[in-house]
Amino acid sequence: MPTEEIRRQVVIIGSGPAGLTAAIYSARANLRPLLIDAPADTEKQTTPGGQLMITTEVENYPGFAEGIQGPDLMVQFRKQAERFGTEFLEEWITKVDLSERPFKLYGDNKVVIAETLIIASGASAKWLGIPGEAKTPEGFGGNGVSACATCDGPLPAFRNKRLVVVGGGDTAMEEATFLTRYAGRVFVAHRRDKLRASKIMQDKAFLNEKIEFLWDTALEEILGTQEQGVTGVRLRDVKTNETRNLDCEGVFIAIGHKPNTELFKGQIEMDEVGYIKTSHRSTATNIPGVFACGDVQDSVYRQAITAAGTGCMAAIDAERYLDHLPIAMPSGDEITIEGEQLPADHSVIIMPSGEVVSNEPPSPTLDDC
Ligand SMILES: Cc1cc2nc3c(=O)[nH]c(=O)nc-3n(C[C@H](O)[C@H](O)[C@H](O)COP(=O)(O)OP(=O)(O)OC[C@H]3O[C@@H](n4cnc5c(N)ncnc54)[C@H](O)[C@@H]3O)c2cc1C
Repeated sequence: MPTEEIRRQVVIIGSGPAGLTAAIYSARANLRPLLIDAPADTEKQTTPGGQLMITTEVENYPGFAEGIQGPDLMVQFRKQAERFGTEFLEEWITKVDLSERPFKLYGDNKVVIAETLIIASGASAKWLGIPGEAKTPEGFGGNGVSACATCDGPLPAFRNKRLVVVGGGDTAMEEATFLTRYAGRVFVAHRRDKLRASKIMQDKAFLNEKIEFLWDTALEEILGTQEQGVTGVRLRDVKTNETRNLDCEGVFIAIGHKPNTELFKGQIEMDEVGYIKTSHRSTATNIPGVFACGDVQDSVYRQAITAAGTGCMAAIDAERYLDHLPIAMPSGDEITIEGEQLPADHSVIIMPSGEVVSNEPPSPTLDDC
């Protein structure tokens, strides 16, 4: 059992663009945030710095006219958070108790007690686990293999090239259709003889002359060299078991994403896939004092800039939440700022005028959706 206890007003889980932006904002608000950063772990797919650590060129993050390498961008995020006093704790959080405030987070070595919690634990792209798929230098990840067409499709390496998209759902159709803006030809390899994607996405893809479907086809291996990057794929017909090679210069794995929310299951409201539900105009979850930002609550946009944007929102939401909590006075009474009084059960606030109002936390809840 961990023995050392750390108590903080603002605790952030996750060191991707969302978590680090939340840290920058809450550190500048003098809230001394503690940012919990999972150590690198290939199996759990965690890297300090988040998903951008496994990519190369980031061309669409505003402020970098010439583009920037993903890991370099995350170094800048981290330095900025450090500059304003963010404290970092390298720990895997393995258990949380969100049943009452302050919330309790358990790591292997420490217990963290949080007045407010910002969840920025991100999401992980699902991978096939085939040879050639791993990050360079073990494979071609970041050198011809990607899990994000919006992010990497426009890169010069993929322009007018032959690309393979793997998957049969909406994500795969969206990625394949998007890639035809840049690619010469897009092959969609799908294990079955029909798609899982919605009818409208299928129709769009079927009408696109640049897309060719490879039915009943599984990807066995991604081929290439470290100098050239991807040069082809080895395919297997799942009905006949025959294999063949197909020349291509890029592979996009589009078999879905998994939000990193296992830890919070049963304690916080999520959608059917496991994305944390937030109020439509804030980062509030169904638990007052717990906020979620970035890919962990976003199955739609999944970009660094949107993650950073919601990280900023979460810090401001947490700050406002803390501002409205009652303060204990030496007399034993509790007041909030400007003379409002709080009875022992905290259920209402007695205003200086004598008016009695409910003491519901001010942050928006899911009821606002
Ligand atoms: C290959 C690839 C290329 C991309 N390229 C671009 C691009 O060019 N432009 C763009 O805008 N977007 C790009 N994206 C998307 C972008 O990376 C994500 O949208 C963004 O990183 C999401 O940020 P986040 O902070 O929400 O989460 P993440 O970046 O996923 O970070 C989450 C963090 O939480 C930590 N964590 C998880 N669980 C725990 C736990 N239990 N305890 C402690 N810590 C935990 C993880 O270790 C990780 O550090 C790309 C994504 C991929 C996969």
